[in-house]
Amino acid sequence: MQAVGFWLSKRSQMHPERIALTVPGGEGYVHVTYAELNRRVNRLARALRSAGLSRGDRVAILSLNCPEFVELLFAAAKAGLIVVPLNVRLAVPEWRYQLADSGARLLLVGPEFAAHGPVLQQETAVERVIALPAPGETGEYGEWLAAHSDDEPVLPAGEPPVTLDERFIICYTSGTTGKPKGAVLTQGNQFANALNACMTLDISGRDTSITLLPMFHVGGIGLFTLPTLYAGGRVVLPRRFDPGEALRLIETERVTVVFGVPTIHRALLQHPDFDKTDFRSVRFFYSGGAPCPLDLIRAFHSRGLAFGQGYGLTETSPTHFLLVPEDFQRKAGSVGRPALHAEARIVDANGRDLPPGQVGEVVVRGPNVFKEYWGKPQETAAAFRDGWFRTGDLGWADEEGCVTLVGRLKEMIISGGENIYPIEVEQVLESHPDIVEAAVVGLPDPHWGETPHAAVVLRPGASLDSAALTAWCRQHLAGYKVPKSFTVIEALPRNAAGKVEKPKLVTMLSEQLGAKQRPSA
Ligand code: AMP
Repeated sequence: MQAVGFWLSKRSQMHPERIALTVPGGEGYVHVTYAELNRRVNRLARALRSAGLSRGDRVAILSLNCPEFVELLFAAAKAGLIVVPLNVRLAVPEWRYQLADSGARLLLVGPEFAAHGPVLQQETAVERVIALPAPGETGEYGEWLAAHSDDEPVLPAGEPPVTLDERFIICYTSGTTGKPKGAVLTQGNQFANALNACMTLDISGRDTSITLLPMFHVGGIGLFTLPTLYAGGRVVLPRRFDPGEALRLIETERVTVVFGVPTIHRALLQHPDFDKTDFRSVRFFYSGGAPCPLDLIRAFHSRGLAFGQGYGLTETSPTHFLLVPEDFQRKAGSVGRPALHAEARIVDANGRDLPPGQVGEVVVRGPNVFKEYWGKPQETAAAFRDGWFRTGDLGWADEEGCVTLVGRLKEMIISGGENIYPIEVEQVLESHPDIVEAAVVGLPDPHWGETPHAAVVLRPGASLDSAALTAWCRQHLAGYKVPKSFTVIEALPRNAAGKVEKPKLVTMLSEQLGAKQRPSA
């Protein structure tokens, strides 16, 4: 079986003039054909190898969505290199950690982040930073590519061919230990994701998808950028999500498939242009990445728009469960069944299968499930039980095998589709001189789904300065991880085993914050 780079070479031979990408450039958007994309990818694959990168070396990218992101994925695939996408919302120490941990030797930075280049080379293995151009421009990156041939790259003599087992992408996800872990996805994992998405949802060369998720998340790569290009379809790739622009593009580019996290779909729905937009080209809207409220699904359905939901994790590349269009109405709220090449079970705390209707942990298996956490064999082993990956999500299956998620075993907050592990925020708070202890919980938010809130125990004599704590968090953490409120308490509620009782804290903070928002009598 040939690996990911092969798809593009093949497509560029089969239909060189077909449009692969529609991207910002010049005054508006421009089209890139499969032949053009493949030629640029070939140049980049050669440029990366000429820069001294060897098989399995890591190349990081810190950028908004852009054609160069797609080029890097395919070039790395052809050259047997590993891409490390960095979340643009993180703070400098967080980027540095991921660069150092992955050992990335080269970093591509978008124009918005160019100023961070030098500081990201400090205490990391990054030897060279290459600036990506603004839309429509050539820049350092363009000149770098121009210096190399656009012929298919050839691996050095004696080097084995790139196979599906090749490590391809390291996506950082946070975890219970506080520090993010790099989930290693192979080319085979992305191939399985493409097959699962295309074969389960009938995505074909006639489809045009729009990528509204950032490509630094595996969702932006796998839903449905790479699957659409695998199928020979077209991807519309705005730089960042803007609801008005997205609606305009859906109409003018005749988009057929729209993927988003619930916050994105809600923003589309609430935009004044939503009801004026011509959606006749759209086959379906699709949600994933966070719980999708039923009222949101119904709002699309009530306008005659097909809307479905899937579920997966970074570790599953990410597609694992998909609701098929036939079930969009009948099973609204369910995340569907495992995709064509994926399996799942619902198990109890001892790993025993549970019957339909009973809530348990979702465990999964399939060719889309990640290989390992980068450099963390113990964490990798702990993530699996008998070959099944433990998702940490709770759900139940109905008699037809469709799963509904009801909660999480893991302590994770999802805000606008971005995951927040409380421990990471708690550690930053507890490193502040005024704070003895801190606990962070998620509270419901109408726009973001959930937002983080903190309860803090102060040192004797210290007083709460929310602005200072916010600034402290911002220095160390991505903006979306910074607690929206700080509440002083005398002691954290703990159970007999000394574990902080988060559910109690949720009730306490909800009541206190609710009371604060009510006008005083
Ligand atoms: P990530 O690794 O960032 O893709 O986050 C994966 C987590 O997002 C899962 O473990 C779930 O908790 C959550 N998630 C993804 N899709 C859904 C969904 N459709 N409904 C509810 N939660 C979801």
